[in-house]
Amino acid sequence: MNVFVTGGAGYIGSICTEELLNAGHQVTVYDNLTEGHRLAVDARAKFILGKPEEPGDILNAVKSAKPDAIMHFAANALVGESMTNPKKYFHNNVVNALKFADAAVECGVKKFVFSSTCATYGPPDRVPMTEDLPQRPINPYGEAKLMFEKVLIWYQQIYKLEFIAFRYFNAAGASEKFGEHHRIETHIIPNVLTVALGRKPQCEIFGTDYPTPDGTCIRDYIHIVDLAQAHMLGLQPGKTGFYNLGNGDGYSVRQVVQTCEKIAGKKILTVEKPRRSGDPPRLVASAEKAVRELGWKPKFPKLDDIVATAWAWHKKHPNGYAD
Ligand code: UDP
Repeated sequence: MNVFVTGGAGYIGSICTEELLNAGHQVTVYDNLTEGHRLAVDARAKFILGKPEEPGDILNAVKSAKPDAIMHFAANALVGESMTNPKKYFHNNVVNALKFADAAVECGVKKFVFSSTCATYGPPDRVPMTEDLPQRPINPYGEAKLMFEKVLIWYQQIYKLEFIAFRYFNAAGASEKFGEHHRIETHIIPNVLTVALGRKPQCEIFGTDYPTPDGTCIRDYIHIVDLAQAHMLGLQPGKTGFYNLGNGDGYSVRQVVQTCEKIAGKKILTVEKPRRSGDPPRLVASAEKAVRELGWKPKFPKLDDIVATAWAWHKKHPNGYAD
């Protein structure tokens, strides 16, 4: 297929692009490089430097690529930042996303694949979380993603734009070539590994008084290549709806630090800080629906393996794409 990947220079988009190309698809990447990196774009893909705020830029890019499918990754994705700058989240993650959906309708694109998030649920009544749980986000990031999920439901019903939306839990790990490099890093695994590399003296643990066994937040980490594989399964015609992507295992922040220490073979100094606002205590997926309906089969379900691939990439690229 001919696939138009928005945000293909970012962490998740770059590895999905790589996997699409490995599977024989053609890819056009559209990215404005505010979060992404030009070096993260696989050389086999066509690259468009996007200006999403400019009228007509998105529509013209989609028209010129004539894709069969759009995979929409371009977004801001920091829970904490969304609590202090909600405007950024509603503009980029809703208004700009709408421009891609409109362009898809206008250009007769067959499939729209959307990066959604477990943050659309808010704190769940039970774990593991299935797709039918109520969605009550507690941060603007989750709210903006939920708003766009609703757009997709109506666009499918009325414009017949077939969509599939993946609610990611915590994407982590790396492929051999591409990995996680945010200019301002807030995610736990890369932050801990930066300490292991000796580039920072210590890492912070946000909140030790949560109602969890060790008092720190619990998350479900999913390998980035497994996530990419799910997107490819989602391209099959007729596959539509919402799917959680996670492994069904919850790890606390302290357990993540211990795993990083084990894989890197280094002691990691931590300091305890107050809670970060907008963080639900426990998010663990049930991805049974994706397994059952899409035939999804994660290759790297264990946190050890996820961290090992991240560590290998960070050791090779201590400055990320700035090298
Ligand atoms: N976290 C932490 N220290 C850090 C970064 C994150 O304690 O330096 C915690 C954060 O509060 C959350 C968990 O680790 O409970 C996962 O956060 P991350 O930002 O990696 O992903 P999120 O769940 O927000 O998407």
